[in-house]
Amino acid sequence: MSRAWNFVAGPAGLPEEVLHRAQEAIWDIGMGAGILEVSHRSAFFDQLMYDLEAQFRRIGGIPDDYDVLFLQGGATLQFCQIPAELTHPGDHIDCIHTGFWTRNAMRDAAFYVPIHYAYDGAATGFEHIPSDDEIHYSENPRYVYYCANNSFMGTEWQHAPKTDYPIVADMSSNIYSRPIDVRAHSLIFASAQKNLGIAGCCVVIVRHDFLEACQPDPRPSMFNYRRLVENRSMLNTPPTFALYMMKQMLDWIEEHGGLEGMAAINRQKAAIIRDAIDDTHGFFRHVGEPQCRSMMNISFRTASKELDDAFIEGAEAHNMLGLRGHRETGGLRASVFNAFPIEGCRALAEYIREFARVRG
Ligand code: PMP
Repeated sequence: MSRAWNFVAGPAGLPEEVLHRAQEAIWDIGMGAGILEVSHRSAFFDQLMYDLEAQFRRIGGIPDDYDVLFLQGGATLQFCQIPAELTHPGDHIDCIHTGFWTRNAMRDAAFYVPIHYAYDGAATGFEHIPSDDEIHYSENPRYVYYCANNSFMGTEWQHAPKTDYPIVADMSSNIYSRPIDVRAHSLIFASAQKNLGIAGCCVVIVRHDFLEACQPDPRPSMFNYRRLVENRSMLNTPPTFALYMMKQMLDWIEEHGGLEGMAAINRQKAAIIRDAIDDTHGFFRHVGEPQCRSMMNISFRTASKELDDAFIEGAEAHNMLGLRGHRETGGLRASVFNAFPIEGCRALAEYIREFARVRG
């Protein structure tokens, strides 16, 4: 049976080569046991972790004065771990609010630190990403928080906000889809299940001087970045299979030209779908202002919920899955993360044009 074009927003589809490698590795990793049955304290796994970190750094160009952690609890644990560890009594933080994921992050941060909203996108229905002069920072926030790609609405920052305050970024839905300006940030975090493999692992990239300002010890182990760094993310049993899968995904990214290669193909993929939407002359409408649209999550809609539903129903008959918009926004959304094949974008573009022709 053939596999469908899977436009789901995450956990996302994986490259076929990676799935085949995983199938073999589940049976035998070359030592008479499969990857699901290997101790995280074995020489095999220790080497895997060294290789994973080295490769992750090489691909992303992560400078030496940044640590890289592979943690559990998803991006959502970072929503509270970052403020819990990196703010002190009397501190406050600034948030650039661009939608669902900054709202969720601030809901959890508020347990630890007061929040100043340097920009609030609610007034524009979150279809806009602010320019630097639309952001009004408070005095001396401990850090400025933003979400680099708003997977729920389909908007994306084209560059990090410009400020001298430390910047913390949620890159869960666009990490390694193109080159990253790591130096612009004090901390970047991203869960893996969209561009870097499967659910179960969250990457944290953090500059040494930012970590030095952590809450002092003693602290609970899992809420202690410094201990996690000292133990190379293996204080307890790590998500071994998710880490193995990330390694396979990084191999695949390197085989396809690294982050420049990802950016070139991802740009083409998004353009194929966006052009088809444009060709329908308003039958389908893009969500998000032109310069703010995401390359990963292409949000669009027709004039009515009935037509959106009919589009989704017809898509299934065309072997396409996962095109329903986020539960809060409605509409349609095609998520085309790193692993999503360009042929699937062409198939969707054709279906968009055909649907508009028949129903328009
Ligand atoms: N941030 C963004 C931008 C996301 O898209 C998601 C997941 N869809 C999350 C955070 C939450 O990630 P997790 O489920 O791994 O906690």
